[in-house]
Amino acid sequence: MSGIFDIAIIGGGIAGASLAYFVAPHRSVVLFEQETALGYHATGRSAAEYTRRFHSPAVGRLTDASYDFLTTPPEGFTETPLLHRRGNLLIAGHEKAKIFERTFAYENENPPQNGSPIRRLTVEEAVEMVAFLDSDYVYGAFFDPDCWDIEVENLLQGYAKGARKQGAEFRNSSKVETVTRKQDHWEIRDGERIARARMVVNAAGAWVDPVAVLCGVPGLGIVPHRRTAINVKVSGHDLSNMPEVNEIEEDFYFKPDAGQLFVSPADETPMEPHDAWADEMDIAYAAHYLTECTTLEITHVAHSWAGLRTFAPDRLPVVGFSEAVPGFFWFAGQGGFGIQTSPALGQLAAAALTGSDLPENLMAAGVDVAGFLPSRFGA
Ligand SMILES: Cc1cc2nc3c(=O)[nH]c(=O)nc-3n(C[C@H](O)[C@H](O)[C@H](O)COP(=O)(O)OP(=O)(O)OC[C@H]3O[C@@H](n4cnc5c(N)ncnc54)[C@H](O)[C@@H]3O)c2cc1C
Repeated sequence: MSGIFDIAIIGGGIAGASLAYFVAPHRSVVLFEQETALGYHATGRSAAEYTRRFHSPAVGRLTDASYDFLTTPPEGFTETPLLHRRGNLLIAGHEKAKIFERTFAYENENPPQNGSPIRRLTVEEAVEMVAFLDSDYVYGAFFDPDCWDIEVENLLQGYAKGARKQGAEFRNSSKVETVTRKQDHWEIRDGERIARARMVVNAAGAWVDPVAVLCGVPGLGIVPHRRTAINVKVSGHDLSNMPEVNEIEEDFYFKPDAGQLFVSPADETPMEPHDAWADEMDIAYAAHYLTECTTLEITHVAHSWAGLRTFAPDRLPVVGFSEAVPGFFWFAGQGGFGIQTSPALGQLAAAALTGSDLPENLMAAGVDVAGFLPSRFGA
């Protein structure tokens, strides 16, 4: 090698790692992560859910195209299954009766690609599924079987291990501070070190706009939004087999998490990129929503945290070369679906970077990069 990498990826979350995994067999790769560990930011703070419903059609196609990889990953990728079926119980309070009826009718008549039918439940059946639901709260409920827990850490480490095996170099604790365009390559400085690469991929999660500016590329208006989660202990109930529970308009959701209950108030507060933490008010909302629809009393929040879900203005991912500056590639805007779509998005970005045909699974699901190009924002 000439001392110049083919591709430098900035960001070691699920986006950067999945792309490194799919492109390393074809190109030399160096990946920079500013933190000591991969996945420290959004990737390590998610609800770890794969669900087929309640997405835009484009995200639904990416979700569908990712399913086979997640259920049957390549030999040696992981020692434990990446998906565990949990199911999703959608509930509505009495004040949302009309919204419930409308949503149920729509979801019943418009199943997602490769989706299973949903099933309407009586209040008694819903309480049979989740014994601590308050039957007085529930107006209506339906069960969606197409919801799984994702083993996020195994998925992330599987990508990183596979990429390294193909020769990719991962540099942790390496904050990219300056990026300079030379005649036919980039110089990337992290502290004292300089790396050279023909192309730079911006997979910096919440930081994608500032990282673009660092590279001399205008930002696209991609905005991080904070989402909060708490863990609470629930005594007297076996949580292991309960479904995830979602309020009909996603005002809140909760699910088992390592023996406790994960609860999110589904907040979406626009923020500057930073190491996010949970605001007291959002913690209180999470606890309030849970007590409102259940018979539980919460005396103690075991743990709370927040992460940034980062969205482009149209809430679709951004995948493709900048038209403004040669050799600069956007891989951004994974929003609230970046884990579950990472196999398809990683493959899509690898194909776009190398000028290859789309893999069969993406074609079959109807994925097309055209809707994700940064040029849709005039960039
Ligand atoms: C509470 C919550 C719940 C969620 N639930 C789900 C879910 O159930 N299912 C799902 O699919 N998705 C979910 N998501 C969304 C998912 O977590 C994100 O879409 C995904 O993790 C984004 O990955 P990323 O690699 O783009 O970002 P990140 O994981 O944030 O990675 C970007 C990395 O870039 C690094 N970086 C930034 N600037 C620099 C620099 N200058 N130099 C070097 N490194 C840099 C950062 O340190 C960071 O590690 C959820 C998110 C949150 C917060």
